[in-house]
Amino acid sequence: MAVLQLREQHAGYLPCPYCGRDLVGASPDWWRCSAERCPYELTTDAHSLYGALSEAFEKDPAAFFSTVRRYRDEVRALEPAWQKQEARA
Ligand SMILES: [Zn+2]
Repeated sequence: MAVLQLREQHAGYLPCPYCGRDLVGASPDWWRCSAERCPYELTTDAHSLYGALSEAFEKDPAAFFSTVRRYRDEVRALEPAWQKQEARA
């Protein structure tokens, strides 16, 4: 999946999506906002995905949205689970 392939490419500091301050590593598994009163936190996996998607968007917005549309079309083309069960019955 193209979205997941983007994950390895990012580096650097990311702003809190809620208030804009820097996110800091709170433990090996979690990141949290550095602002004292902001409750925002996310897992390391979510932080990596957020960073990769932010960097891809800033580098080339048109290519980013092209990737998003491809992913959307791929997901929409999947056969719904309830239809798979009807086919087997
Ligand atoms: Zn924040």
